[in-house]
Amino acid sequence: MNNCGLYIHIPFCKSKCPYCDFYSGYGEKEEIDRYIKAAARQIREEKRLWGSVFFGGGTPSLLNKENWEELMYAIGETSLSAEMTTEVNPGDVSEDYLKMLKEVGINRLSIGAQSLKDKLLLFLGRRHTAKDIHLAVDAAKKAGFENISLDFMLGLPNQTQEDIKAAVNFLKEHKISHASAYILKVEEGTPFFKNGIADLLDEDDICEKYLLFCSEIEKVGFSQYEISNFSLSGKESKHNLKYWKSEPYLGIGPGAHSFLNGKRFFIEPNRKAYIEKIEAGISPFTGFEDGGDFKEYAMLRLRLKEGLDLKTAGEREKDIRKKASVYIKAGLMEIEENRLRFTRTGFLLSNTIISNLIF
Ligand code: SF4
Repeated sequence: MNNCGLYIHIPFCKSKCPYCDFYSGYGEKEEIDRYIKAAARQIREEKRLWGSVFFGGGTPSLLNKENWEELMYAIGETSLSAEMTTEVNPGDVSEDYLKMLKEVGINRLSIGAQSLKDKLLLFLGRRHTAKDIHLAVDAAKKAGFENISLDFMLGLPNQTQEDIKAAVNFLKEHKISHASAYILKVEEGTPFFKNGIADLLDEDDICEKYLLFCSEIEKVGFSQYEISNFSLSGKESKHNLKYWKSEPYLGIGPGAHSFLNGKRFFIEPNRKAYIEKIEAGISPFTGFEDGGDFKEYAMLRLRLKEGLDLKTAGEREKDIRKKASVYIKAGLMEIEENRLRFTRTGFLLSNTIISNLIF
């Protein structure tokens, strides 16, 4: 099978951002090295040809050359023509580091910019500054990366229209081909949650900033292809599309999820347990459940701008059309050539609408 995506979780960060609920934390070099050995072993034992590879975190840009070589060797030369993305933190990457990534086989970068305003980066507890983002993008270009994505956050308190326009302008000026824009969510258990940051967020302001980002980015040639993702033509993330198109992918590392052979499963979010299991030759996968039924398929497809082909709904088509008519009248959805999809404003309410339509 060569269309299977591979996600590799790097669960290490230098410090924890106060809004983050991903499974990650500080790790000493010895633990990182041991973890990489375990992950590489697990990848090798899968013996697959991968259709796309994505290193996420955590902070993959904390890995050194030896760590990268070990992982890439395990992935195998035959997969190197696939889309190979890694997330990087702008504060971590020099031109030499990025050249090394290029040499080991990474061909796409996802740079966690979040904002081009130092004040907002400080609020988010990020380690980098706006200047680091400029330097990282310049260094990536010099290292020969053409396929670059930037991540931004929307809906931050005190984020202005000018901040959004400046971010979009940056994409244009630096010929960036892909961007993700995520609305800040205050997750339970995070310092943001404990400090009542949710009270500072204003629903109307969030919607306004999201819609502004969508319209501004379109003016510089990007198309929205998913709720939070935008790209120039042909530069969509091949790996992330697998998630929304219900294609197979395997997630390696603690906290990673997989969808393979019709089953959904995951790895317990515990670094120590993961390493020990792999070293003992025990499979770390757990929680096997049937996946990929119509509800799940429709829910994921509706995240995409191309929407859901109603023919795939079978006997549910009539019911979905009837329920959707209310949202179509309200300008939140539309149907074109039998495809039901969200409008831009509809995307903002997609979770509620999807559960009304499908569940
Ligand atoms: S760098 Fe990313 S993964 Fe690490 S704590 Fe910050 S947001 Fe979370």
